[in-house]
Amino acid sequence: MPNDRKVLVTSALPYANGPIHIGHMVEYIQTDVFVRYQRLRGRVCYYLCADDTHGTPIMLKAQAEGISPEQLITRVAAEHLRDFTDFGISFDRFGSTHSDENRILSEHFYTRLAAAGHIATRTIEQAFDPVKQMFLPDRFIRGECPRCHAADQYGDSCESCGATYTPAELINPVSALSGAAPVTRSSEHYFFKLGDFSDDLKAFTASDALPKEAGHKLAEWLTEGLSDWDISRDAPYFGFEIPHAKDKYFYVWLDAPVGYIATFWQLRSRLEGRSLDIDAVRSQWAQYAVHHFIGKDILNFHGLFWPAMLKAASFAQPTAIHVHGFLTINGKKMSKSRGTFITARRYLDCLPAEYLRYYFAAKLNGAIEDIDLNLDDFRARINADLVGKLVNIASRSAQLLARHLDNTLADVLPDAPLYAEFLKASESIEDCYEACEYSRAVKIVMDLADRANRYVDETRPWEIARTPQRRAELQGVCTQALNLFRVLIAYLKPILPETAAKVEALLGGPELNFESVKTPRLACAIQPYTHLMRRIEAADLAPLIDEAGGEGVPRKAAPERPAPAKAEPAKTEPKEATASDTIAAEDFARIDLRVARVVAADYVEGADKLLRLSLDLNEGRTRTVFAGIRHAYAPADLVGRLVVCVANLKPRKMRFGVSEGMVLAASDAQGLVVLEPGEGARPGMTIR
Ligand SMILES: [Zn+2]
Repeated sequence: MPNDRKVLVTSALPYANGPIHIGHMVEYIQTDVFVRYQRLRGRVCYYLCADDTHGTPIMLKAQAEGISPEQLITRVAAEHLRDFTDFGISFDRFGSTHSDENRILSEHFYTRLAAAGHIATRTIEQAFDPVKQMFLPDRFIRGECPRCHAADQYGDSCESCGATYTPAELINPVSALSGAAPVTRSSEHYFFKLGDFSDDLKAFTASDALPKEAGHKLAEWLTEGLSDWDISRDAPYFGFEIPHAKDKYFYVWLDAPVGYIATFWQLRSRLEGRSLDIDAVRSQWAQYAVHHFIGKDILNFHGLFWPAMLKAASFAQPTAIHVHGFLTINGKKMSKSRGTFITARRYLDCLPAEYLRYYFAAKLNGAIEDIDLNLDDFRARINADLVGKLVNIASRSAQLLARHLDNTLADVLPDAPLYAEFLKASESIEDCYEACEYSRAVKIVMDLADRANRYVDETRPWEIARTPQRRAELQGVCTQALNLFRVLIAYLKPILPETAAKVEALLGGPELNFESVKTPRLACAIQPYTHLMRRIEAADLAPLIDEAGGEGVPRKAAPERPAPAKAEPAKTEPKEATASDTIAAEDFARIDLRVARVVAADYVEGADKLLRLSLDLNEGRTRTVFAGIRHAYAPADLVGRLVVCVANLKPRKMRFGVSEGMVLAASDAQGLVVLEPGEGARPGMTIR
């Protein structure tokens, strides 16, 4: 992307009838990383979003709570914004589609469409609830599936067999609101003649504004022919009234994307300190490269309806539409009954936001694929990558620097070529961020982290530290390691902004970015090392899965062309018959084996078989383990050695204290040997 182009970035607008969940967070994290990267490169980049506040579900939810829709959306907006903020999502403006700007703009779009003859009216027949006195959206009609005869299915699709149909085909339909049988009533509706824009849309979908895969899908729909889009709803409805049409409202999907521009309008007014008119907004909008980030379920709205509306109202079309897949948890759809409906808040109550930011980034590759949050993999990956590899570089070096060198960095880097090698990676990492291929960026950084750890392992600073005459050498090694770490943190700053801020405070100097790390930190004091990250324990994950579940998935309506609901594969996995003397791989995987360093070893008074070991598993503290190896080892033989520790053994209270693990040893009649990991092993490493 050219450096001088101003960038405007949006995420899809969350619907204001329920909480943000971690499925939503895939998109906001994906977008936020992109935005932070643009800013890190020194570009002008604004990130806009808003709550999507209109429609029948909002109106009904407010009724059910006995409050006004305005009260509901005000409360939900505050909840949403708090969740986003705590996840580090850096909006420049988070607005609402229920704003004056959005009403004025929606009317403007509609008026332009109508004036150019792109609006038609037609009388349609629709299900009407005679008790509630309102027309029923398809989702609010339930009945028997016409295909598989499953009971209590939605009016537009069957969750049991995946069939899609119209509410009229449903057998014995009832209103989900009153239980009454709906009657058919006719009403005049307003339609946007999308087909008028076929040629323009063909050009748009073939352009590089869309990922190839998405462009092809839209091109298929275009070939099938575009039907008119119903943009009106009858009162009662919570939304904007259509000008000069009594008791008719804009369908929520008409004014939702307009909310992008309305929020931009609010931002510009704030930046310029004056109120702008629509023409000023239009010309400002054209000066930005506009990037929309969306999920694959709303591709037709953003790839067809929205560009057509923009064209009709002479607003610039987007530069790029980035499309992502859905989130699955442990390989399955998020589900309340499985307890995997994890709200953003519940996650934040358990774990730091940056762990999820990192995990999603490590999986996002810019393609329209679903990504899976496997909780065991999540834990293993965070512990191995962030704690075991990345933070390990700094914690080892900074602690030695504090102990022996008064926190002062050396004057020169002992291995300048290695530093240059780290700097050289910036170009490929920039390409990855630009293309939203964060997984590739993460891979490059983690390979470099391995390289940095290898540097520390090979130079063995903990050994150098034993000789007071070698202080200068020790200082050089620690300075090198900390500077390599600093480069890696700059590369990960779009993903881990909070950690980057902590490292900026630790190491001092200019704000971290791709430019500033070209000058290493030398010949200055750093702050005393404080803990940067902690490991995820099994106990941290348990509260994430909650049988009680959260609230329902925010949903305003099925897309106009709903993808057939995927039927879940039948659970046919046979229970495996296992011989009594074998265990399943999962049983072994439950044992958390770790490399540990023996920091201290002592005899235990009153216990003639035991040694008390202090073990470093790279978790920011040492563990005490009582091991029955006194007959085979003297304490001094063990100090400094690497051993294998069972890290998730339930702590055992003994007469002498609590034992927090077990050290592996091999034995037979001849004797006992404590197992020792080979060359290259580091405390905290997982053994499997
Ligand atoms: Zn069915």
